[in-house]
Amino acid sequence: MARVKNKDTKPEVKVRSVVHRLGYRFRKNRTDLPGRPDIVLPRHRKVIFVHGCFWHGHPNCPRAARPSSNEAFWRKKLNANIVRDRKNIHLLREQGWRVMVLWECRMRDEKALLNRIKTFLKEQ
Ligand SMILES: [Zn+2]
Repeated sequence: MARVKNKDTKPEVKVRSVVHRLGYRFRKNRTDLPGRPDIVLPRHRKVIFVHGCFWHGHPNCPRAARPSSNEAFWRKKLNANIVRDRKNIHLLREQGWRVMVLWECRMRDEKALLNRIKTFLKEQ
């Protein structure tokens, strides 16, 4: 299982290549922004998070099923991640950023992914 903030995990690479193909320039993991978004488009004031379903608690997703052993440990840990994600997104929005969250399980269809990202980046 991957850590929460693994650098350059596969889904992130995939999203970056899509954004690149769409002709946008971006920065990676800007550490001065809440939650260190995976992709930052400063000119458009937009950020994209690529979230692993398990660690970030994708609602109603089979990949986010919690382990049955050490139940209390996992509940505490994973709930804390979810709270932190919400807080970070809230802070970013307060600072005028538009935020997109992409879930790992929804990336298999590359064309659909490209269209979703395209739509998000075109929004004014
Ligand atoms: Zn999922």
